[in-house]
Amino acid sequence: NLQSTTTLHNGIEMPWFGLGVFKVEDGSEVINSVKAAIEAGYKSIDTAAIYGNEEGVGKAIAESNVPREELFITTKVWNSEQGYDSTLAAFEESMKKLGLEYLDLYLIHWPVPKQNKYKETWKALETLYKDGRVRAIGVSNFKEHHLKDLLEDCEVVPMVNQVEYHPRLTQTSLHEFCKQNRIQLEAWSPLMQGGLFEEPTLQEIAQKYGKSTAQVILRWDLQNEVVTIPKSVKPHRIQENANIFDFELSSEDMERINSLNQDKRVGSDPDVMN
Ligand code: NAD
Repeated sequence: NLQSTTTLHNGIEMPWFGLGVFKVEDGSEVINSVKAAIEAGYKSIDTAAIYGNEEGVGKAIAESNVPREELFITTKVWNSEQGYDSTLAAFEESMKKLGLEYLDLYLIHWPVPKQNKYKETWKALETLYKDGRVRAIGVSNFKEHHLKDLLEDCEVVPMVNQVEYHPRLTQTSLHEFCKQNRIQLEAWSPLMQGGLFEEPTLQEIAQKYGKSTAQVILRWDLQNEVVTIPKSVKPHRIQENANIFDFELSSEDMERINSLNQDKRVGSDPDVMN
């Protein structure tokens, strides 16, 4: 169900399912969507400093009736703030905006290899983790070679890697590498930002199970053991997206969806993103 969690390698429970709020405006839009999600039973919210909506996310949390400790809040340090001291400062800024005493998951948003600062940045995340400010730390948009490089020097192995992941980009070798290192994979743009709803195989499978195409894709994430955080600002879709715990895709249908892979990104390539 919606409360079901994956146990990260440090023992922290992270919900398999949550709400993404990329491109959701600060103020009433983000407040209403986070509230709608919490009312629908969501426990996990994924934001980032660069989304500019941490204040609204914080307001919605404060105004909701769910105790803080039942929620799982993720935010991310933006590229321009990478580096040890600047990351510590960025974290405090995010916490002030969110109005939280502690965070559940803090991520390095992009590796930005040209800056070559992700190791320093990671040290700041390790400090925050050891100081108990954040319950888990991780990375986002790290390819295998970025992870390998980080693993050579880190004290704490990242608990999560949040990457672009959907039926057109199944990241099988990265996923395998993450599993071997007990790094939980998390999908961003799981619905390929809306670009998959006309795909005939997905439509056919959806019809077979009496589910929507979105629900089939999100269920496929869970069965592949990938944490998923679809975005919607519409309450009926927020509810629809969460309604994926009452059916199971057969292994053949899982394979059919896996085979839609084209290694195709809709977002930036992490090696070139500045
Ligand atoms: P998504 O794949 O979740 O697609 C969202 C879009 O799909 C919505 O705008 C809506 O138009 C449509 N949609 C959602 N539910 C639907 C439904 N049931 N029926 C029909 N249409 C529906 O796209 P996303 O927002 O890019 O990704 C999800 C989250 O991942 C983001 O909000 C953000 O939190 C995170 N993210 C992280 C990164 C990163 O670099 N770490 C990058 C992009 C997104």
